[in-house]
Amino acid sequence: MKKLTFTFLLLTLNHFIFPQTKLQSPTEFLGYELGDRFTRHYRMVEYFNHVAEANPGNVRVQQYGETYEHRPLIYSIITSADNFKNLEQIRQDNLRRAGMLEGTPATKVAIVWLSYNVHGNEANSMEASMKTIYELVTPGNTKTKEWLKNTVVIIDPCINPDGRDRYANYYNQYGNIPANNDPQAREHREPWPGGRANHYLFDLNRDWAWESQTESKSRIKIYNQWMPHVHVDFHEQGYNSPYYFAPAAEPFHEVISNWQREFQTTIGKNNAKYFDEQGWLYFTKERFDLFYPSYGDTYPVYSGAIGMTYEQGGIGAGLTVTTNEGDPLTLKDRLTHHFTNGLSTIEISSLNAAKLNDEFERFFKENNTNPLAAYKTYIIKAENNPDKIKKITDWLGTHRIQFGHAAAGKPARGFDYSTQAQNNFNLTTDDIVFNIYQPKGRFITTVFEPQSKLTDSLTYDITAWNLFYSYGLKAFALNEKIPLAKNYQPVPLAASAIPSKPYAYVFNYQSLTDVELLAALMKKGIKVRASEKTFTLNGQRFDPGTIIVTRRNNEGIADFDNVVQLIAKELSRKIHVSATGFVDKGLDFGSGDVNYLKIPKVALLGGDQTSALGHGEVWHFFEQQIHYPVSAIPTDYFKTVDLTKYTILIVPDGNYRLFDEPQLAAIEKWVSDGGRLILIANGAAAFADKKGFALKEFADDDAKKKAEKEDKEQKEKEGPVKYADAERKELSNNISGAIYKVSLDKTHPLAFGLDDFYYTLRTNELHYPYLEHGWNVGTLKGKQKPVIGFAGSKINKKLENTLVFGVEDKGRGQVVYMIDNPTFRCFWENGKMIFANAVFMVGQ
Ligand SMILES: [Zn+2]
Repeated sequence: MKKLTFTFLLLTLNHFIFPQTKLQSPTEFLGYELGDRFTRHYRMVEYFNHVAEANPGNVRVQQYGETYEHRPLIYSIITSADNFKNLEQIRQDNLRRAGMLEGTPATKVAIVWLSYNVHGNEANSMEASMKTIYELVTPGNTKTKEWLKNTVVIIDPCINPDGRDRYANYYNQYGNIPANNDPQAREHREPWPGGRANHYLFDLNRDWAWESQTESKSRIKIYNQWMPHVHVDFHEQGYNSPYYFAPAAEPFHEVISNWQREFQTTIGKNNAKYFDEQGWLYFTKERFDLFYPSYGDTYPVYSGAIGMTYEQGGIGAGLTVTTNEGDPLTLKDRLTHHFTNGLSTIEISSLNAAKLNDEFERFFKENNTNPLAAYKTYIIKAENNPDKIKKITDWLGTHRIQFGHAAAGKPARGFDYSTQAQNNFNLTTDDIVFNIYQPKGRFITTVFEPQSKLTDSLTYDITAWNLFYSYGLKAFALNEKIPLAKNYQPVPLAASAIPSKPYAYVFNYQSLTDVELLAALMKKGIKVRASEKTFTLNGQRFDPGTIIVTRRNNEGIADFDNVVQLIAKELSRKIHVSATGFVDKGLDFGSGDVNYLKIPKVALLGGDQTSALGHGEVWHFFEQQIHYPVSAIPTDYFKTVDLTKYTILIVPDGNYRLFDEPQLAAIEKWVSDGGRLILIANGAAAFADKKGFALKEFADDDAKKKAEKEDKEQKEKEGPVKYADAERKELSNNISGAIYKVSLDKTHPLAFGLDDFYYTLRTNELHYPYLEHGWNVGTLKGKQKPVIGFAGSKINKKLENTLVFGVEDKGRGQVVYMIDNPTFRCFWENGKMIFANAVFMVGQ
């Protein structure tokens, strides 16, 4: 009996010590060497799961979300067996260190997070992640085991599986066998839209803060559960560039701490050591700056990490390519470089684990007790539109920003976002308050501060993004600290008493959720009207754009009342009812100016010549935000498309050669017959100065000559441009993304639901005079300078008295010109409202 028990014990022990699954290298598991092929995403997931099965005592793989195309988003946690037993304690201790949980931390372990392949066609990254996890766990590598004793490594092997597979599938289909190193061969020229972006063609490395995409939403959640000390975002750049790693380039946002600057250099030097040993070329401190808060390096930086971008040269390189310098570059080279820097980063973090923890704690202590930024508190006034308040408070919550209400109302003074000046106002206990005395204090500053200090105007991205302007919110920034006294109390929706058969249902039209309601009603075939003017009903005032659903015209809808009420309930819309079409003041429901809204049939141009991002933004808007059908029409057979099947044609941003004279004439006829053409940014530029269209270029007149003369005088004064200054000099003509204040003609349907001003995010240098024949709904009047962000002096001059949004009536149809892209990156809430108006409200 005793012997039997012993054998049993031995067997059980055996099971623990020697797991069932024996660890295989990527080569053994996949059946080919890493770098010989582009691995499809599902095989990588299988490999990570295999590694976890083979290492149940120190590796975990977890799914944290799913892409639009239903691929799993996974991350894995790798550490020593001892740490692994304490994983939850380590995680919580880290949040305690940040002040996000109560209590004193007992553990002190470095947390390093490696993210791969945010851009799908920067395709070595996911391959490198497999080599990295293998070397972390294989018993053959004793160094990594040392590091894991005081380090938790988190690997997200592929942030963008849909884009990654789009690239891999393309390459696997079109690549020569054996691989062709000729840069002109098809395998080095990806077709539109390329694999860089996700399913909806969004750049996920611009979306960390805005979380417009499902991948970002899922990731931000787990990121904030861990709050790593070091975060690396692995990328690739054009294949002729050498490797780039930290330290980053200026500008650095001023909230970045000295330690964050220093340790980037420490890491960079450790990486350099390995690159020097092998003779690999690299550069640092150039091109990739730390300013825009929505990247995979800056978002972590503003959340207390050492956030970095690593860039291998490799986009378009396929399995092998000959570079400009005549050298071969293979996928194996590329993944070896990423792998080397991944391990180097873990090594140097492990060597500095205690210091990383102490400095991380210090970063947050400063946030929580003594934040340096000038503006300490932000106030969102309670009288703002409740949908917008809900959306922005939800957003604050996902980033773990604490907000609430002040203890008592009082007179206050602060920067007023609606006037860009210091103003007095009354702070009430209903207003929403958040201050920067909290863990996410620095992140708050980067998103909401009235003006960001730019240490160098040469930046990689837009220079302004303030969400108060995006939402058009009445808001204030204060230099004083207002503490949070009460938890946020959302205003409850007043229940409406609905008579059994009202004459009409009436809904406000002030937010994107109201647009969703309109779209939902139309999808059910319900006929809807919108009032063009203000009216009063039952003593209540309704603004232009108010949606009216009359019983008349909808007799054919089965169960009409229930359908309307259910849609309103699902979207939490307040239902107003009327027993009569006779209003107290304004136009009765039967008036000709209470417009019947035709149900739009929408076509969206896509494909070669259109901007993939611009196309994706509109596609995402319809499908994911207002849930309304849209047909994507590719450019390559656009000429053969029967446009009479659609009432709306949207031409997104792009670089068009497709609109020749016969095409323009055909489109003009379609518009005159009742179509509505919506042109965005360079989509509008393609129609400027074209026969039959109202958008004109500035004439080559005196004004231009005067500007040239001034320019010449200025040049003479300054002397010749130095070779080294040329790039900076160019900037006076550029806008890399800045916010301007636009005057709106609120009486036009394109401006329904908006206030007197609209803040536009200008991301191009296009400028056109007001329409002579048409409605100038949004304009830049008089002298121009951005309310926030950087724009060159010359371009500001060119923008004086120019068109932003205009509508040309043509026959029975309209052309809507949108010089700025209102759907840019899908985070400009008020812009989406204007875009929705172009689709649903204009031209009725
Ligand atoms: Zn990239």
